[in-house]
Amino acid sequence: MSNSSNSPFILVIGTGGTIAGLTTDSGNGGYQAGQVPIATLLAQIETKFSIKNIQLSNIDSCDMSESLLSKLGLQVRAGLADPKVMGIVITHGTDTMEETATFLELVCGGYSNNLGKKVVLTGSMLPSDHPEADGPRNLSAAIEFAGEGGGPGGVWAVMGSKPVPGLRLIKGHSSRVDAFLEETLPNGWTQVSNDLPIPPDNQWPWVEIITSHSGAIPDTIRLLRDRGVQGIVLAGTGAGTVHENLAPALEQFMEAGGAVVRASRIGRGYVGGTLANGRLGMALGAGFLTPAKARIALQLALFATAQPGAKTLSWQDYFARIVGLSEVR
Ligand code: ASP
Repeated sequence: MSNSSNSPFILVIGTGGTIAGLTTDSGNGGYQAGQVPIATLLAQIETKFSIKNIQLSNIDSCDMSESLLSKLGLQVRAGLADPKVMGIVITHGTDTMEETATFLELVCGGYSNNLGKKVVLTGSMLPSDHPEADGPRNLSAAIEFAGEGGGPGGVWAVMGSKPVPGLRLIKGHSSRVDAFLEETLPNGWTQVSNDLPIPPDNQWPWVEIITSHSGAIPDTIRLLRDRGVQGIVLAGTGAGTVHENLAPALEQFMEAGGAVVRASRIGRGYVGGTLANGRLGMALGAGFLTPAKARIALQLALFATAQPGAKTLSWQDYFARIVGLSEVR
């Protein structure tokens, strides 16, 4: 399946996931993700395209690290820069696929669009040795889509039949084979895609997610602040509302220079910039980003604003561009 000639090819990067998983325990549906090499998965499918593969990792994506994201981002940028690469497919676990899609969109979505080359994530909900394994058809469909000429580039996911733009991808079910949804965005919604820098693996800003819920207490926020956390994403209730017990600790954190973004634990729909009850007035809304996606976006915005020569934009400006709001200043 691998191609050593000089003709154009699709680059397939294996990172692991259930698509590379093997059943451990027949009868109970137990399996281990990240067991089968990408070369073996490719040998099981038919495609008209020449393929080259790279095994970047073979992990369960619930263990995704910032260091691996940095490595993947650099690998994708290098692949896009190679004139022989027609498009890139990444096999990935489904648990954190939407975070990786967000990361890639924000660090190389503009570049891939300008080149008209697609970066396509794919995976599966059933392990590779399951009798109804969905991996081979998803991998084939992702390769076909990545190899299609003429359309826009950008970061996409192919899980099931319909390609979904990376930033809109949502894992909406824990176990169904059709687990993925596409967030619908209003007409005219635009995200400015000026690619952001990739943090080196030990330089990712520290950002945590705090959930608001009945009976919430602020102790974790204070602990994180004392330990030096740089940003907090609120996985708020409803449209990003926050418990009265959490709001004062978050406000103190912001007054001391901490970054706070309000998202919703619902995981779908829009979170705007202000709350009717006036709580967390200085926090930005996460727009259509789920808390996990907003966390990646806030890390990249904080990293971008800390770069020498990038002082003209604040993290709020970067974040507002990402979520399609007009710039803050
Ligand atoms: N835990 C697996 C993973 O994310 C789930 C999957 O791939 O479907 O790697």
